[in-house]
Amino acid sequence: MQREYEMAHPAAKKLKVAIVDLDVHQGNGTAKIFQGDESVYTLSMHGEKNFPFRKEMSDHDVDLPDGCTDVPYLEALEHALDELERCFYDDSSPLLMLYLAGADPHEGDRLGRLKISYDGLLTRDLRVMDWAWQRRIPLAFAMGGGYGHDLATTLQVQQGTYRTALAYWRKWQAISSTVETTLAA
Ligand SMILES: [Zn+2]
Repeated sequence: MQREYEMAHPAAKKLKVAIVDLDVHQGNGTAKIFQGDESVYTLSMHGEKNFPFRKEMSDHDVDLPDGCTDVPYLEALEHALDELERCFYDDSSPLLMLYLAGADPHEGDRLGRLKISYDGLLTRDLRVMDWAWQRRIPLAFAMGGGYGHDLATTLQVQQGTYRTALAYWRKWQAISSTVETTLAA
C-alpha cells in the first residue's frame, strides 16, 4: 500500500500505517517485522499470559490480565488510541489503519482467557472504526481468532464487526466523491 500510494502520489508525504491488533494473542510477527520502521505504528492489546509466551516489542503493547472484563478493557483501548494520537497521528500525513478484529477476547472463547462480553466487543469495534472515521483515515480490517466453546458466539462477534464496518463503509460512500476530488487535487 505504501508503494502503491507513492506511485500514485509521488509528491506527497510517505503513507503512514497504524496497525491496531486486538486479537487476544500478541501481534508478534507484525511487531518484529516493523521494528525500527517509523512509518508503521504497531499497537497490540493481548493477554499477558497467553501465547506467544515470548513477546516481541510493538510500538505499544497492552498486557491484559486473565479474566479482564469490559470496563478495564475499553479503558485500556481509549488510552491506547490516545497514545496512537499523541505518538503517531499527524493530520498533515496520509494515514492508513489496519485493524485486526480478533474475536478471541470474548468470554465464551476456549483460548482467550479474557471475559469480554459481546456488547463489549461491539463497543470496541465501534470505537476503533469511529476513531478512524472521525479523522477520515481509511481503515481495512481482518478477522482474527475465535475459538468459542459454542461456535455461534464467535460468529456473533464477527458478524458484529462486519455490521459495524458496513455502517462506516456507507458513511465513506456518502463522501467518496469529495475524497476523490481532494486526492486528485
Ligand atoms: Zn488469537
